[in-house]
Amino acid sequence: MTAFLQRLARNRLAAAGGAMLALIVLVALAVPLLPLQDPNATATAERFARPLSEGHLLGTDHLGRDLLSRLAHGTRLSLAMGFAAALIAAVLGSVLGIVAGFLGGRVDNVIMRGVDMLMGFPYVLLALAIVAALGPGLVNALIAVAAVNVPFFARNIRGVTVALAGREFVDAARLSGMGNLRIMAVEILPNVLPVIVIALTTTTGWMILETAGLSFLGLGSQPPQADLGSMLGEARAALISHPHVAVVPGVMIFLVVMSINLFGDGVRDALDPRLGAGALTRPLPATVVDRPAPPPLREPDPPALLAIDDLRTEFRLGRRVLPAVDGVSLSLGRGEAVGLVGESGSGKSVTALSVMRLVASPPGVIAGGAVRLDGEEVIGAPFEVLRALRGRRVAYVFQDPQATLHPLYRIGDQLAEAIRAHQPMGARAARVRALELLRDVRMPRPEDRIDDYPHQLSGGQRQRVGIAMALANNPDVIIADEPTTALDVTVQAQILALLERLRRERGLSILFITHDFGVVAQLCERLAVMYAGRIVEEGPTAEVLAAPAHPYTRRLIACVPEPGAGRRRLEAIPGLPPRLDALPPGCAFAPRCHRARPDCGAGDIPLRRAGARAVRCLHPETTP
Ligand code: ADP
Ligand code: MG
Repeated sequence: MTAFLQRLARNRLAAAGGAMLALIVLVALAVPLLPLQDPNATATAERFARPLSEGHLLGTDHLGRDLLSRLAHGTRLSLAMGFAAALIAAVLGSVLGIVAGFLGGRVDNVIMRGVDMLMGFPYVLLALAIVAALGPGLVNALIAVAAVNVPFFARNIRGVTVALAGREFVDAARLSGMGNLRIMAVEILPNVLPVIVIALTTTTGWMILETAGLSFLGLGSQPPQADLGSMLGEARAALISHPHVAVVPGVMIFLVVMSINLFGDGVRDALDPRLGAGALTRPLPATVVDRPAPPPLREPDPPALLAIDDLRTEFRLGRRVLPAVDGVSLSLGRGEAVGLVGESGSGKSVTALSVMRLVASPPGVIAGGAVRLDGEEVIGAPFEVLRALRGRRVAYVFQDPQATLHPLYRIGDQLAEAIRAHQPMGARAARVRALELLRDVRMPRPEDRIDDYPHQLSGGQRQRVGIAMALANNPDVIIADEPTTALDVTVQAQILALLERLRRERGLSILFITHDFGVVAQLCERLAVMYAGRIVEEGPTAEVLAAPAHPYTRRLIACVPEPGAGRRRLEAIPGLPPRLDALPPGCAFAPRCHRARPDCGAGDIPLRRAGARAVRCLHPETTP
């Protein structure tokens, strides 16, 4: 809520609109308390007094009535009518929309066809017809305006509800025995509420105009009662000779509607959770880099193909800074497979995405370090260079191919698109190449599969397509971010075998991200363990698994069940990973560590290297 208000306040136009609206509403509410003259007291002797004349600040109208007083009362009435109409339309429309969208079938059909009928008539004509049928008068005008706006709400809300009604949390509510009415009230309504509020704020101004319009035509408020529309209507006859009588309500209508619209637009923008991270902008094509000079080149031996050097990536959320990756150094040799292991949230994905500056900005910022590909610095390279590298030399495979493949395109077309992004070739040649790729990743019957849509494939087949896509441009490095986490173990084994074969045949380097030591052991000769944004242990896989040095590594390994090893207690690591913006001083793992001593919390603990191994711990399990 406070975040919402902050975002609203940051939008200056919306804040100005809100302030003006608040002022107008406050004055309108206070009208009975203000020392105003009787708005309906006529004094024909003082007809058409000019503004600023004595006793009449804004002058008088054709019957000598005080315009200031009529304006105050009229604004009050117009606002009340407009808000009431908007509220009625919103409530009725939302109820209809939710019921139609949730129940579907015949109920949906009946409601929505009725709504369609209402929408078939021109807006104003329908309102006029309703008032004509009911007779002129305030209440009838209100009913008419509310009625013509119901379809707008019903349509919007139904659309959102239909999408929500098929979601898992609604199924879960049903399974828990909730009735339809309860589900609509408890599960659906809170989810559509932002949409209702947005529709309300963007239409209220319009509805005030409509009620004023009906009054202008003499169908709303009846004389002598003033509202903004009727004031304007009565002033029409004297428009040329005494324009101020029309200008006064006209300016007020303008101010009211403009302030509501500005405020409404601001509310809509502020309610959109995607804007929650701050600026009203889309993510940039590359992560923002805001670092001191890159660290000097330290040539690792043997020379690495991909070298991540003291990388720092943080998320800047308003005043909070989350250091998601805090000084990670990792190198990947040609043809090497390195595992990056750690609990969820330890910063593995952010590290991987930072390599090609793919972390979403805002809020992501690369705040330090360097990434070198074949010795060339990547982080500071111009965007064109970066784009040429993405997919061409460094390709990614993600966890959930369902989410990364476009659901509406055939996989062959998507592969062809990936190929043609970097290699100019005709559609037919790209298709031939796509088929080749599907064969390379051992897709069964690729000739038939190439024209399938993603939903027609199994999870394992989809991941094969994901890998084929990564291979499309013969990259040197594949960064695989938990590519098998969503798959069952047999399919996982096939995918791992596939990656292993590709690595051997093509000399690919693989950075393999996972939380599963079993998977690392199969594929990677080296591994690095991450905790809270830092590497805490690194070394050859077999050595680390046999004799983990960091207590965290040992406990992570102990969490992996071993079939056939007999029944043993699986030891979960106590406690939770720390919050990134409140890291304990010293070792971030110390609060959960069974070997922690007071000095662990004292100061920064460096990553100490000994041969191929490295550990960031003062009291390691074993000294490598
Ligand atoms: P994992 O090791 O599971 O891949 P991530 O690298 O995805 O973890 O995330 C590392 C940390 O960065 C987490 O604490 C996560 O909450 C945080 N984080 C990731 N993306 C964002 C984001 N867009 N905004 C704020 N924090 C983020
Ligand atoms: Mg991740």
